[in-house]
Amino acid sequence: MIFEVTILGSSSATPIYQRHPTAQVLHINERLFLIDCGEGTLIQMNRYKIKFHRINQVFISHLHGDHYLGLMGLISTMHLQGRTAELHIYSQPELEEIVMIQLKHSQTDLRYPLVFHTIDPNSPAVLFEDEELRVKSIILSHRIPCTGFLFSEKPRQRKLNKETIRKYDIPVDAFDSLKQGSDYTGPDGRKIPNAELTLDPKKPRSYAFCSDTIYDEGIVQHIHGVDLLYHESTFLSDKEDRAKETFHSTAAQAAQIARKAGAKKLLIGHFSARYKSLYPLLDEAKAVFENTSLATEGDRFTIE
Ligand SMILES: [Zn+2]
Ligand SMILES: [Zn+2]
Repeated sequence: MIFEVTILGSSSATPIYQRHPTAQVLHINERLFLIDCGEGTLIQMNRYKIKFHRINQVFISHLHGDHYLGLMGLISTMHLQGRTAELHIYSQPELEEIVMIQLKHSQTDLRYPLVFHTIDPNSPAVLFEDEELRVKSIILSHRIPCTGFLFSEKPRQRKLNKETIRKYDIPVDAFDSLKQGSDYTGPDGRKIPNAELTLDPKKPRSYAFCSDTIYDEGIVQHIHGVDLLYHESTFLSDKEDRAKETFHSTAAQAAQIARKAGAKKLLIGHFSARYKSLYPLLDEAKAVFENTSLATEGDRFTIE
């Protein structure tokens, strides 16, 4: 089952050097989740063959334009192309007003329901949950309220060991409790330990998206042991003061967070327009946390 992030935008503030503002698509077991939706996201989705009609949940980190100005285009195109399914948008509360006023003045009566979910910028919460997945907010520290998102698979049931199930002739009605970890007790009183009849399930996978933020070690406790961490890296270390002033991070600071959190891999993005080449940012991050990659547009990162 797939768990994969596609990068659609990696620029901070403005599109430059073929880089677009922030947007990513997370593909988990045939479902698509959109994370931020900067200007040009729809064009990027077409370029990288993302089937955007399959997106039912959109998570917007904050209301700086480089993180949501593409949303209206996406909402309109879905309408024009006849969408009927609900679209759920998770964001700071003001986004609803921003979207609704545009629909009002264009006299657009959407063909599908838009459902807004408010994020509390002060305390982390579960935003979305189903039988497979949980999405939690991560409180970030930026000039305006801003949240990251932690996508975690839920632990799966144990897998039946077909060989021993056959060998011991275990009846079908015992399968559910075996999958939940119980030992088997037969009608004749015979007992077989669970470990003999089942196999370990695949480890749950996780992805943390840490959007615009100043260096903040408070994040670490919420993303401990994450498989893949995206953390903004707007500046090089020589601009650390500038990063602090503007509530952004340097590449080395992103790497510090990855190291302290025990992340398995780091992705850096949200690059300042001052950097044409991104390799110096990558080098500075790698000096602190080796397993780092640039969030280059069109790249896909799979968590096995
Ligand atoms: Zn930004
Ligand atoms: Zn911002």
